[in-house]
Order: sequence, then structure tokens, then C-alpha cells
Amino acid sequence: MERKQYELGDIVQMKKPHPCGSNEMEIIRMGMDIRIRCVGCKHSVLVPRAKFESKLKKVLRSKAAAEKPEEAE
Ligand SMILES: [Zn+2]
Repeated sequence: MERKQYELGDIVQMKKPHPCGSNEMEIIRMGMDIRIRCVGCKHSVLVPRAKFESKLKKVLRSKAAAEKPEEAE
């Protein structure tokens, strides 16, 4: 099974779009729970890590990859 890689500051796409119509979320806090903020309406929500991973579709833009392009997989 594919392991998803994500980190603080990444823009991710969730399986279900936010009610505002945007499906891009930014990871603004990482810990036991993960806080993500909707790029469209700036609404933020705290979700348990397991739930976040089950709802994560893909990482759209990695902050780290943008800063260090040589690390692209
Ligand atoms: Zn929204």
C-alpha cells in the first residue's frame, strides 16, 4: 500500500471537496492531530492523523520540495 508523505505547509487535496467548493487544504499544524485550512475560505479544522490520512487524496504542492527541488522523487 502506498504511504502518503506530507508535511507542514503542504497543500493537499482531500477526497471530498470543502463545502465552499475548494478542495485544496493547507497543513498548518502537525501533531497527534493535524490542522488543515481550506485555501478557498480559510476555514480551519482539526482532524486526527488517521482520519486525515484516510481522507487525503494527494499532496498537490510540497513546501519542502519547492525549497529543495533536488529531493524530488
Ligand atoms: Zn472552504
